Amino acid sequence: MALDYLSLLNPSQAGAVMQTEGPCMIIAGAGSGKTRVLTYRIAHLLEQGVSPFNILALTFTNKAAKEMRARVEKVVGPNARSLWMGTFHSVFAKILRSEADKIGYPRSFTIYDTQDTKTLIGQIIRELELDDKLYKPGLVLGRISAAKNKLISVNQYLSDAAIKADDEAALRPKIGVLYQQYQQRCFKAGAMDFDDLLFNTNVLFREHTDVLNKYQNMFRFVMVDEYQDTNYSQYLITRKLAAKERNICVVGDDAQSIYAFRGADITNILNFEKDYPELKVFKLEQNYRSTQNIVKAANSVIKNNQAQLRKDVFSENEEGTLIEVIKAASDNEEGKLVATTIFEDKMNGHLSYDNFAILYRTNAQSRAMEEALRKLNIRYKIVGGLSFYQRKEIKDLVAYLRLTVNQNDEQALRRVINYPKRGIGDTTISKLVATAEAANHSLWEVVSNADQFVPARISNPVVTFAENIKAYTALAAREDAFEAAKFIAKNSGMIEELYADKSIEGLSRYENIQELLNGIKEYVDDPEREDKSLGAFLQDIALVTDSDLKDAAQEGEAVTLMTIHSAKGLEFRNVFIVGMEENLFPSQMMITSRADLEEERRLFYVAITRAEKKLTLSYATSRYQWGNLRSAEKSRFLDEIDPAFVHFKFAAGGGPGAGAAEQPFQHVFERRSNLVPVLPRKVAATKYVAPADFSPSDTKNLVAGQRVEHPKFGFGVVRLLEKEPAGAKATIDFEEVGEKVLLLSFAKLRIH
Ligand code: ATP
Ligand code: MG
Repeated sequence: MALDYLSLLNPSQAGAVMQTEGPCMIIAGAGSGKTRVLTYRIAHLLEQGVSPFNILALTFTNKAAKEMRARVEKVVGPNARSLWMGTFHSVFAKILRSEADKIGYPRSFTIYDTQDTKTLIGQIIRELELDDKLYKPGLVLGRISAAKNKLISVNQYLSDAAIKADDEAALRPKIGVLYQQYQQRCFKAGAMDFDDLLFNTNVLFREHTDVLNKYQNMFRFVMVDEYQDTNYSQYLITRKLAAKERNICVVGDDAQSIYAFRGADITNILNFEKDYPELKVFKLEQNYRSTQNIVKAANSVIKNNQAQLRKDVFSENEEGTLIEVIKAASDNEEGKLVATTIFEDKMNGHLSYDNFAILYRTNAQSRAMEEALRKLNIRYKIVGGLSFYQRKEIKDLVAYLRLTVNQNDEQALRRVINYPKRGIGDTTISKLVATAEAANHSLWEVVSNADQFVPARISNPVVTFAENIKAYTALAAREDAFEAAKFIAKNSGMIEELYADKSIEGLSRYENIQELLNGIKEYVDDPEREDKSLGAFLQDIALVTDSDLKDAAQEGEAVTLMTIHSAKGLEFRNVFIVGMEENLFPSQMMITSRADLEEERRLFYVAITRAEKKLTLSYATSRYQWGNLRSAEKSRFLDEIDPAFVHFKFAAGGGPGAGAAEQPFQHVFERRSNLVPVLPRKVAATKYVAPADFSPSDTKNLVAGQRVEHPKFGFGVVRLLEKEPAGAKATIDFEEVGEKVLLLSFAKLRIH
């Protein structure tokens, strides 16, 4: 039965669906039906008799591919299963599986994940005896990855002065050599990393025209969703594949380009117009997803960006409720208010928890949200990541804490005995385990007396490790959980190890550790808490760290939690964007230029436009950082939304307590979870609270060696001042967080 496209699509959308021959492009606003057009376009092609094997559809995430396949299947049936559909990485890994021998790799090549890659790079850095302060694996990987995404080979890198210039200016002249060694080692090991999958597909297509020909004939129709986030390497692959039939359709939105840090390039949209002069362009302006208020609010934000293609997006949906802004006194209270609002909205609107999503800028922010949801027995799931206590670095630090409290905790002992690496190899560990079993001792007994069981050469690091753990135990007996945990995190070497990793993932792991310490500080600061020991804290979180809970949340309806980056392309009835504070969103780490700020703003635009009916934004006026309570300032993005579409739920001054007193469901919460009523909690005095009026100082007179204060990073000393086209930069060595490079026009510094 033929589909009645005209009843399912508006005329522009239907036009793009019917336009199956020749190149076509849709660059249109959020929620205007771009993905819907691709879905129906595939259905239409199949209906026309095109074989599913001839259709290639590239999406940005596996989840998006799965959803699109399910939607096509609904329309055309099981035929949809044979479509070539997936992320760039998954589709081209599949192709390389049958072609890799042509470029010298085994077909059964191994795929190295980021961790494998970093370990290998770390090894090479040590072998070449390079300064490990300048050459950190995460940073080196970032440079190699950027080169590969621009299709710069090792030889090109080594022979081109312009390419090397950046690294040389940063006093890292050996990046090229590292790139070379790394590539050789991967090649010898028959392994490819994620970037190689795309790089080598390009090599394959360039060097083997017969292979390219085969795939050109096979993929008669090529489609790409979220085209604004493709990098050069991906762009070239699609261009080559479509070169013969020229049936290529790309959809995207320049205002939602949020992966510049991974090499995504807006010029791919502009190139597309040049590559295909016969291009048909379709305009979609009607948003079908969101209420008028949400669409107008999103428009008012994105218009602050200078770099964007002008387009008008409108909605004919209901006007809808105003965007609500929640102000909380702390991040924990923010969590409680968000969880409370979700519960209320669900009850009042007879909704399902599936209708709700909580979006945040950084992964670490999930902790406060997860804890608040658990206290109200609200199910949740984390998309594109793990629940806070399931994350590797959190499990590592918690293992240290468990071991401190109970040395017979063998799981914990095994987990951290050689993490961070301290020269206790697997063989030594096996020997210790075998000795313990043979003598019927606990592993700890053998470890703490290792010199009696294994030769001194190997026992030394083991004995030192055991001595450290004993010292932690003694400390934990004297100090509260926070002081003990903070000391252990530093002394074990974990903080240093994570701080050294400057990749995006490394940054996120570092933030997670910081967030765990924040949680412990809040725990001990609670005036009603009597037992503030490490043991008591571990008992308190035992339930949360139980891995069984992770699976329980996968079934049944649940609130979705995720970073904004993972929310791209998705939609939810009610959306919460939390942590709307300066330095958090826009992110302090990411802003060094106007272009970066514009990328953060596009991210905010993506977040707003996920909401169908109701959008709530929240921020806290203070937040813990490394266990110190710091005042936080509301995000500049909040002020950029046209005030006509915003309602401040808790008026400034009234505080959230004013709202809480009237909560209609208050009694329900108390009965359900004995939750302390949602009132502003008095926060205990702490070491450092930045004044609320922290305004940008006159940094003209800044000189190296000067002592400065930053609202988030605390005190530090200026090491280096540089003038760059993007503005003046200062390298500052902060007492607590180490060295940071800040752009002075954004950094709010006080000179001391
Ligand atoms: P994003 O930019 O966020 O990826 P998008 O442009 O891909 O958004 P879709 O996800 O395809 O937008 O569509 C947004 C919502 O609007 C979906 O729920 C979709 O089913 C609905 N929609 C799109 N077009 C129409 C239409 N013509 N009639 C009814 N609903 C529509
Ligand atoms: Mg989409």
